[in-house]
Amino acid sequence: MEMELTESMKQQLKKDLLQVSVEVDEMIETIDNNGCCILNDFERIHHVFNDLQMTAASHYLDTYLSPFTDAYQALSTAIRHFSKRKHGAIMVVQRKNPLDAFMHSGVLIGASVSFQLLETIFYPGSALHDGAVLIKSNTIVSAANVLPLSHKHVDEKIGTRHRAALGLSEKSDALILVVSEETGRASFAVGGKLYPIHPGGLI
Ligand code: ATP
Ligand code: MG
Repeated sequence: MEMELTESMKQQLKKDLLQVSVEVDEMIETIDNNGCCILNDFERIHHVFNDLQMTAASHYLDTYLSPFTDAYQALSTAIRHFSKRKHGAIMVVQRKNPLDAFMHSGVLIGASVSFQLLETIFYPGSALHDGAVLIKSNTIVSAANVLPLSHKHVDEKIGTRHRAALGLSEKSDALILVVSEETGRASFAVGGKLYPIHPGGLI
C-alpha cells in the first residue's frame, strides 16, 4: 500500500483488532475449560472481522482518492445508491498515469462529477450505462469506455465488469470503483487487486 492511514484511523483499527483478539482468547479458554460449542463464537468474530475489513477498505479508498479528486462525496453517495438498487457501475479515477493508451474511449461528457450525473449514466438501460466512466480530477471526462480485461484470476468466478476493473489496475495506477448488478456488492481495484468496500460504512 503506497499511502498511510491517518493516526486516528490507525488507533481505531488497533482498538478494533484488539477486541477481536480478546474474543479469540476467550474462545481458546472456552475450549480448555469446558469445551462447549464454539460455533456461534466463530460466527460472531467472523462478522466483527468482516466489518473491520470493510471499514479499513473505506478509509484506504478515501486516502487513495483525496490527492487526485474532490469527488469522494459524490462517488460514495453514488456507490451507496447503486449498491442498494443493484445498478451495475464501473468508475475509473485517473491518478498519476495517463490512461488513453489503455482504454477504448467511449462518449465524451466533460462535466463536473455529481451524484445525479453518475446516477443518470448508470441507470439500467441508459444509452451510456455499458462500460466505464472516466473521472479526471473533478470532471467526468467520458462514459461507455471499454477497459482491458485481466487475464489473471482465471480460476475465480469473476465476471467481465470485475475483470475489466482488474485489467486496467494491472496496467496503470488508476483506481476503479465497481458495483455489481448481480449482488449489489461494491469494491475497488487498485494495483491488480480487488478490495471489498462496505457502502454503508463509507465516510
Ligand atoms: P456484475 O457483478 O455486475 O454482474 P460481472 O463482473 O459479473 O458484473 P458481467 O455480468 O459480465 O460482469 O457484466 C457485464 C457488464 O460489464 C457489461 O454490460 C459492461 O457494462 C461491463 N463491462 C464488460 N466488459 C467491460 C470492459 N471491457 N470495460 C468496461 N466495462 C465492461
Ligand atoms: Mg455478472
